Amino acid sequence: MFAKTLAQAFPSLVRLCGDTCMGRLQSLARRPPQVLLFEGGNEEARLELARYWACINLCEAAERPCLHCVTCRSILLDQCLEIRALDGRIGSKEDEQEPGFFRTFNAENARELKHWLGNYPKLRYHLVYITGIAASRPEAPNALLKILEEPSASALFVLLVPQREQILPTLVSRSLILTLPQELHEEAPSEDVVDLLSRFSAFLTGSEDFLGYISPKSFLSLPLAREFLLGCQKSLVHVLAGEAKTPLETCLARLSARALSQAILWTQEACEMLRNELSPVSPLRVVEAYAMHLYLLGRS
Ligand SMILES: [Zn+2]
Repeated sequence: MFAKTLAQAFPSLVRLCGDTCMGRLQSLARRPPQVLLFEGGNEEARLELARYWACINLCEAAERPCLHCVTCRSILLDQCLEIRALDGRIGSKEDEQEPGFFRTFNAENARELKHWLGNYPKLRYHLVYITGIAASRPEAPNALLKILEEPSASALFVLLVPQREQILPTLVSRSLILTLPQELHEEAPSEDVVDLLSRFSAFLTGSEDFLGYISPKSFLSLPLAREFLLGCQKSLVHVLAGEAKTPLETCLARLSARALSQAILWTQEACEMLRNELSPVSPLRVVEAYAMHLYLLGRS
């Protein structure tokens, strides 16, 4: 049985936001932007939105998307040959051994992508989905930027990220952004991170020795440090949206607008430093420096 309705083809998306995002994309498709950035929602909803965007732009029926032509079907099954998909979370070895629809997002595949985009598209456009950008090595987003600097009228890019703050500002500034409503219970932080965030907020108000707490050797692993910074990032997004709820958010909400944008910048920089697995700086040093910066920011 093949999906015939929007709700069957894009269940997460429709559950999350009805057909509001889809209507917006329909009107954008009249003059599709080179780069669309889908943020928010959850991973599945973002991917469904990418597929929907592909269907609108590549469907061969008069009324697009029809959801049942050969092209629409291949898009919904992630088998369309006119789409390239890259994911920074896939390791190079894994990619070589078992290449799937999503290939790893590294500099080599980005170069290959550039070559592919040089061919004339068999359908109306070449479509490119890119996800897991925050987990990729820095060379990959830089290679992507180079491709975007030489725009091609036949290439459409879709960047899928939980939050725009997680990727290079230069990539964000080239994108048209569409934000899906957040699904709050999705990607709930681990207990360790919740604890760390609450200790961090107590530290910012001067009542907790956060630095002493994280200092024992091997306590702050790279995944924990990343998750902690991601939690800080999410808190900053909530504060910006005027939705401060947690103790950390309440604390950050007291910052001036200028201090807040500084905090966002530092959070982004700290995330960048932890992005590279081979970074010479330990996760502990990154988080220590970050914590101190924010502590002083609250007092300036
Ligand atoms: Zn179709």
